[in-house]
Amino acid sequence: MNWEDAVTRTGQVIEWPYPVRYDKQNDIDADVVVLGGGPGGCMAAISAAKKGLKVALLDKAYPKRSGGGSGFDHWLNTPNPASKVTPEDCVEWERVTFKGYSNSLSRYIAAREAYDTLLEIEKMGAKIRDIDDTFKGAPFRDEKTKFVFCYDYENRFQFRVWGGTFKPAIFNECLQQGVQVFDRVVATSLLTEGGKQGARVVGATAINVRTGEFYVFRAKAVINAMSCHQGSWRFSTESIGLDMFKPNITGDGPAIMWRAGVELAQMERSRAAMPPGYEYPSYGTGNWWNTWHPATIVDANGKEVPYVDSEGNVVPVERRCLPRPGQKFIAERSRDPLYAKPTMPADLADRIRKGEFVLPLYADLAGMPWYERDVIWGLMVGNEGRTKIPVLVNYEAAGFNSHRDMLQNYFTLSGEPYPSMDSTMALGPYRMEAFGNGGEVVVDWDLRTNLEGLYAVGDAILAGNYWYHACARFEFVGQPGQEGGRIRDEA
Ligand SMILES: Cc1cc2nc3c(=O)[nH]c(=O)nc-3n(C[C@H](O)[C@H](O)[C@H](O)COP(=O)(O)OP(=O)(O)OC[C@H]3O[C@@H](n4cnc5c(N)ncnc54)[C@H](O)[C@@H]3O)c2cc1C
Repeated sequence: MNWEDAVTRTGQVIEWPYPVRYDKQNDIDADVVVLGGGPGGCMAAISAAKKGLKVALLDKAYPKRSGGGSGFDHWLNTPNPASKVTPEDCVEWERVTFKGYSNSLSRYIAAREAYDTLLEIEKMGAKIRDIDDTFKGAPFRDEKTKFVFCYDYENRFQFRVWGGTFKPAIFNECLQQGVQVFDRVVATSLLTEGGKQGARVVGATAINVRTGEFYVFRAKAVINAMSCHQGSWRFSTESIGLDMFKPNITGDGPAIMWRAGVELAQMERSRAAMPPGYEYPSYGTGNWWNTWHPATIVDANGKEVPYVDSEGNVVPVERRCLPRPGQKFIAERSRDPLYAKPTMPADLADRIRKGEFVLPLYADLAGMPWYERDVIWGLMVGNEGRTKIPVLVNYEAAGFNSHRDMLQNYFTLSGEPYPSMDSTMALGPYRMEAFGNGGEVVVDWDLRTNLEGLYAVGDAILAGNYWYHACARFEFVGQPGQEGGRIRDEA
């Protein structure tokens, strides 16, 4: 029961369940203080603690599930022994796709580290292999390692993972490594030498959101892991209200950085509005995008809407996750012909108007090969952020059966009349062309910001996004561009 329900039902204002101590100040000294306990903050804290440093980590929520901790379904850009794709290739597809508005520096190092990091998180307890043999024989499974891949089954550098198992494992490792965790403690400002903007960072202030207690953290190094601005509320009673999907990432991190004089870039670039906004939540309806690729889409009469490649050729279901002849590889969200996945025809709306297809459209998982159906409805929808309970569990409890039933697809045409994520992505340079989350903190090869003593990781970094990027520790010590060698071994 939430606060409003409780008050409505009882007709009484319920007493605040925590002691209120506005007058209390806690002083904490540490070698490193990490602001934000998402995947990026937790992995940075583990890394520092393993080096014998005294680490304090604070999060406005509870870091076992906070930030991107509810789950995710794929681990991107991971060159590995089963793949010919290199870190340089990973940087290049993003550079081409986002017309240079990417962060080649952080994403290069992240791609270099991604495979080692994945194996390391597996040791902490996360599930990264099909150990139950659910997908035995599927074309996206490597039978030897039991890894399962997505988007490009030939080039195998994008992993499907059971992302719901990751954050509890990482958080537990933080505790094992002796990281001092302050949950429900929200950072409010950076402390700088002499209180001057642009001076060396020496700590941070914070408030406990339950008790109101004040905190002063003093540290030799501060890591900004508070992500970027992602939660925007629309003041509209008709729509659900939130147009980004991490509700507690409300922009306080960037505001704290701004006030201390941290260099930020691309702040004029907003990320495309994600559903819900003016449309049905895409992950909870049948669709063909992202988590649901390569779901078969049919019209009201059961007629299949073809997937087409970037040259307009119709692609059958068995080839939707394979590069077309001459294409180097398929990259997750690229629309550039060099790397694009097969997708719905661009003229679909016209073809519907002319009567070729009859609305509504549906995702027909039942009509797909068993492995594609089960991996979408099971692994992917079962692990993507916040879809497990609201979608997978609740729909099945209500009788939905992916072997038999279809889910209506609102997503394909939802750009008309309101903008969907898909259509806002096409709006040009001020929307999605910036990679990932668009504007944020500028860092160098060591993840140092322009302020001495202040570092940044994960989505807090300019053009951040994705778990593999957030979890990279940037322990690269070789020369950028150097061939071979594993980063940790070199270090
Ligand atoms: C629905 C959804 C699906 C996704 N799917 C995928 C996927 O399949 N694959 C993938 O790679 N990525 C996916 N992502 C992206 C991925 O989750 C993020 O890139 C990742 O979580 C970034 O980690 P982070 O630690 O940098 O930031 P976050 O996970 O956002 O964590 C930031 C933390 O900082 C805390 N915080 C913020 N401000 C303050 C403050 N002032 N004081 C104290 N604490 C603060 C927050 O509570 C939060 O815990 C998905 C994201 C969402 C929302």
